[in-house]
Amino acid sequence: MTESPPEPFFSGPGLDRADALRADDCSLRALATNPAARELKWREGLPELDAEGRLIWTAPSDPQLFLGFDGEAPRFCAIEDVTADARTAFPLMAQLHAADAPLFAAALSLSRWHSRHRFCANCGILSEVNRGGWSRRCFSCNAEHYPRVDPVVIMLAEHEGRLLLGRQPHYPPGRYSALAGFVEVGETLEAAVSRELYEEAGIHVRNIRYVASQPWPFPSSLMFGCRAEAESAELAIDKTELEDARWFTRDEVAAAFRDDPEAPFQAPPKAAIARTLLERWLGA
Ligand SMILES: [Zn+2]
Repeated sequence: MTESPPEPFFSGPGLDRADALRADDCSLRALATNPAARELKWREGLPELDAEGRLIWTAPSDPQLFLGFDGEAPRFCAIEDVTADARTAFPLMAQLHAADAPLFAAALSLSRWHSRHRFCANCGILSEVNRGGWSRRCFSCNAEHYPRVDPVVIMLAEHEGRLLLGRQPHYPPGRYSALAGFVEVGETLEAAVSRELYEEAGIHVRNIRYVASQPWPFPSSLMFGCRAEAESAELAIDKTELEDARWFTRDEVAAAFRDDPEAPFQAPPKAAIARTLLERWLGA
């Protein structure tokens, strides 16, 4: 029997999003008064966790966003002014139970999108929550606006059995991770992988393959994890983006995952898809 490869942290079944109900305001209002309905509890701009790392749910008060069904129970969320970024949220994400991670990501991105996109991008008038929170409608120009998803490529480049990893200046000491960058308008995922690796590390790549994806709720990215083969090991590092980038052997990556004090770098945290990409590379 073969073991299934590790899945990225923010992936999983999540809720039944019940898209068919979203257009029906009467049904949504009735759901909010259902005795089984629950609303997500927030604390200091992030979903609050209990001692087991699970999300905390309370009786609904002002549930503007309908997240979906957990079995028969409707789940709602208020619009919060989310100010946390990934760096301040990492300690909380370290405690977060994997089963609640997809819902944590959805609630955080959706709530923040509403708090930061209150006005119609077409005419500037205040827009209103629509479809249970899965869009906003402008009643002046009739435009409908949808929560944004920003595609990001994150990739491992390989050359003769070694992997390219880099570090950004804000990483904790010793941390190295996969290189990444936003997909630009008019680009394929493959073109973005190729461009980012050339811009940040000066390498040309071929054989670009998709591995796995993961939502990243800071604020609303969708990370596309990829692998590619570098044509040479010679680097030209863009020091405005990266503090350093280096090639690491399989033994060195394995040592980092064992938390070996002699390991030449510290592996990315569990919430980062870079960790999944490295685990899958080690397992291959
Ligand atoms: Zn408008």
